[in-house]
Amino acid sequence: MRYAFVPEDIDSPWHQAMEVGIARAMERHGHERIDDPQAANLVFHRVRPQAPRPFRRRARATFVVGVAEGPTPDDVLRATYPVLVRSLSNLLVYGHPGPDGRPVAHMVTPELGCYEAARATTADGDAFFEAVYDRIAPLATSHLVIDNVFDEDMEPELAQGTQVTRELAEAARTLDRWALFPAPYPVAEMLGPDDYRHLRHVFGIGGLSYGNLSARHDRHRFWMSASGVDKGKVGQVGRDVLLVKGYDPDADAMRISVPPGASPLRVSVDAVEHWQVYERHPEIGAMIHIHAWVDGVATTEVNYPCGTVEMGKAMADLFDRDPHPERTIIGLRNHGITATGPSFPDILARLENRVRTQVPMT
Ligand SMILES: [Zn+2]
Repeated sequence: MRYAFVPEDIDSPWHQAMEVGIARAMERHGHERIDDPQAANLVFHRVRPQAPRPFRRRARATFVVGVAEGPTPDDVLRATYPVLVRSLSNLLVYGHPGPDGRPVAHMVTPELGCYEAARATTADGDAFFEAVYDRIAPLATSHLVIDNVFDEDMEPELAQGTQVTRELAEAARTLDRWALFPAPYPVAEMLGPDDYRHLRHVFGIGGLSYGNLSARHDRHRFWMSASGVDKGKVGQVGRDVLLVKGYDPDADAMRISVPPGASPLRVSVDAVEHWQVYERHPEIGAMIHIHAWVDGVATTEVNYPCGTVEMGKAMADLFDRDPHPERTIIGLRNHGITATGPSFPDILARLENRVRTQVPMT
């Protein structure tokens, strides 16, 4: 991986130490430092929390890590999430003093992940930066699939919807009534309209909702809710209920089948993950993914971002190890859960009364 630093005109002992320490960790892992940030895969960008400015990447494939320092907030996510969005970072490393005065690094992700990544406990700085590196590398190297290609090739008999699409719409209304997310963090209010628009454009996260739903149509196709749509109003085939045909490696996009003349919304960013799971597990009929938690479930080890091939593989691997992948619940670390079942009513009945609105952050 080729990486660069963009120092802006921000300087402090913290920023200097971060740059030296991160560069050493990157070098240990064989990554090449270059000067031109526009030619880099990964950019470390210094950000002032009071007045965050974005690094304008020319290629969307550039992964930007905002690096900021400040005081210890009462609520780290609430204080730093707007900084992540305003600086258009894919990940924010926020440094602040720990209770003993030694530095602590928090990570903040667009999916509302917020966790302590490293805490300096000894004079050995390398362990601290190694811990920071361990949290950055999987995010920076993961393959995001957010583009859609729409083919107007849907069979006419599907355009009016099926039993499955009607159940999907009904399940979306039920989840809406559970008021899971964004109850703990009202993102739209937290950010204001301009920043909220950035969030949707830059991160491909159309309305950070409480999650998404999908159900198999046949061996290789499945229905899925659109991104950023009010889940209480999901229902129209070809607009907010989309028939996903698969991943097209040449276009690096999800291929969606729509009726002629449709005006589709983008499918949920998690479509690539659901596609991998449906392909590898023909026994799985439906999935509900929510940004909430269920205790006692098997969990992915790394928190890959939503909408990446790596997240899909990690999920499919967990289902491999489950004795009953067709009817189970798995955890996605620092993110949420995905539940499978033969139908939406079956999944909802098993989730009801077990769901915790707060995802534990580790
Ligand atoms: Zn998610």
